Amino acid sequence: MLFERIVGHNAPKRMLSRVLETGRPFHSYLFWGPEGVGKKFLALHFAQALACPNKLDGCGCSSCKQAEFGVHPDLHLILPEGESIKIGGARTMIEVSTLNPISSPWVVNIVDEADRLTPEAANSLLKLLEEPPSTVVNILITSRPHFLPPTILSRCLPVSFGFLSQKEILRELSEKKVEDAEVISRVASGRMGDALYWARPENWKRRGKYLGTGLQLASGNVSLSASDALLKEKEKRAVTDFLKVLLSLWRDLALLSAGVKEIANIDQEKNLLSLSGERAAEDWVKGCFQIEEVLELSYTTVNMSMLIVSLLISLGQRKTRERSEPFAT
Ligand SMILES: [Zn+2]
Repeated sequence: MLFERIVGHNAPKRMLSRVLETGRPFHSYLFWGPEGVGKKFLALHFAQALACPNKLDGCGCSSCKQAEFGVHPDLHLILPEGESIKIGGARTMIEVSTLNPISSPWVVNIVDEADRLTPEAANSLLKLLEEPPSTVVNILITSRPHFLPPTILSRCLPVSFGFLSQKEILRELSEKKVEDAEVISRVASGRMGDALYWARPENWKRRGKYLGTGLQLASGNVSLSASDALLKEKEKRAVTDFLKVLLSLWRDLALLSAGVKEIANIDQEKNLLSLSGERAAEDWVKGCFQIEEVLELSYTTVNMSMLIVSLLISLGQRKTRERSEPFAT
């Protein structure tokens, strides 16, 4: 069976299975959809199956093993160096594409976070994406297709990905015997990548720290020392992680405030229930939009200090129901 290890994404899996059956892949694909849902994982498995003599992903043959260890000579993964994929990375991809495949029928190039291609790098790839040698398959992956130039988009066959259900994530985490699987499956917001990330004890511990700051903020206590500590953290993902935890809290507070009990942070239900009534639902919702905006910017903006500080000040401002009411006489 193909793609057995990939949770959800039935439509892309069906489509790619048909491609493997016919043995006639399209020359350039664009895997697009939300960040962390498993686009790269499926791309790697598709590439593995393209290279495998049995057309399977992970059958145990030497080609499958090479792919699994990331050392298959015909499979190339192009990643951002720092903030972008520069011309050098694009040139390497063009060079390897001119060579014949070494041990499989195809040369497969997977460009992760393709939206980080510099304009120069993107331009240099146009020919390869449109008319590659007959043995080349390109897979571009992005969660921000609007950042890619139309000239790139028009040359690729789009394959869209959606969010996973909480049940799908929970099943996978339970199979892996992850502690706190129920809460993690909820706070992962449909992203398996996030679920597996939070499932690591050291990351889950950090979530606890961010929760504390988030709850303080929600109760109207702005502590700018929290932003200072956050920006100094060694962990590269610290800012994004913090914003994700914050967003998940604010979403729960908006839901509870509107009388909806289906929340993500079920381990914080008591705290959230008591906080939710302190502001109107629309105020919590407005906060969600603000956090989402900064979260989106965190993927592209290097210096986040000012954005984080102003977000914390804004979120910490309590506009209580009582205060918005006219003074009692
Ligand atoms: Zn194999």
